[in-house]
Amino acid sequence: MKIAIMGAMREEIDPILEKFESYKTFEYAGNVFYTCTYGVHELVIAYSKIGKVFSAITASVMIERFGAQVLLFSGVAGGISKELKIGDLIMASALCQHDVDITAFGHPYGFIPEGSVMIETDSDLRSLAAEIAVDMSIDLYEGIIATGDQFVASAERKAWIEKTFNADALEMEGASVACVCHNFGIPFFVLRAISDSADGEAGVDFDTFLQSSAQVSAKFILEMVKRIGD
Ligand code: SAH
Repeated sequence: MKIAIMGAMREEIDPILEKFESYKTFEYAGNVFYTCTYGVHELVIAYSKIGKVFSAITASVMIERFGAQVLLFSGVAGGISKELKIGDLIMASALCQHDVDITAFGHPYGFIPEGSVMIETDSDLRSLAAEIAVDMSIDLYEGIIATGDQFVASAERKAWIEKTFNADALEMEGASVACVCHNFGIPFFVLRAISDSADGEAGVDFDTFLQSSAQVSAKFILEMVKRIGD
């Protein structure tokens, strides 16, 4: 199977690339894509750069140009749920765009006509992840992830996102990748390790924990790749 693994930042895919002795490198549409084989699978790996637009480009290219049949996102996020501590893993059950606002026309926050507020991730991939978490004795949280083109470092904004979308974590790429995969009919999975709590301390925590949290997520994603059937 052709599996896409993407992150937003270099730090999110470096721990994945480090596992492979050799890969090919392609430049396309402002990104670098790495391809290699892993067991029975062919992989295409890339980081998109931050935000909804760049991540949508990368996901689209992985599917259309590289023929990805499934997409796994690995990265870090700000935690909303009090249960989520720095370094904890959350897989998205569904994702939404917290910064979409055409409420002036009577639509709910996050809604775009002919779309939906939430896009669900693939349930088979979630089940696989849940099995792996048990086998590895890891606490894997499942919940709603809210995406927007903002680094949230405000208790007020975070509370609004929690209240409006019932979200457990927030970041800047998941929902746009979900939108691409959903529209192309590609099963996808979004995993995030918590790097900060999206409050006043978020910037400092993010810088401190980006690398360690990105590694936690990458390690889990590699385990998933091993166990995805051909
Ligand atoms: N330090 C970087 C910017 C990081 S933006 C620089 O200066 O270039 C934050 C990245 O981590 C995004 O890719 C986003 O998906 C994720 N993220 C982690 N914590 C976040 C938060 N509190 N708010 C929004 N995104 C967050």
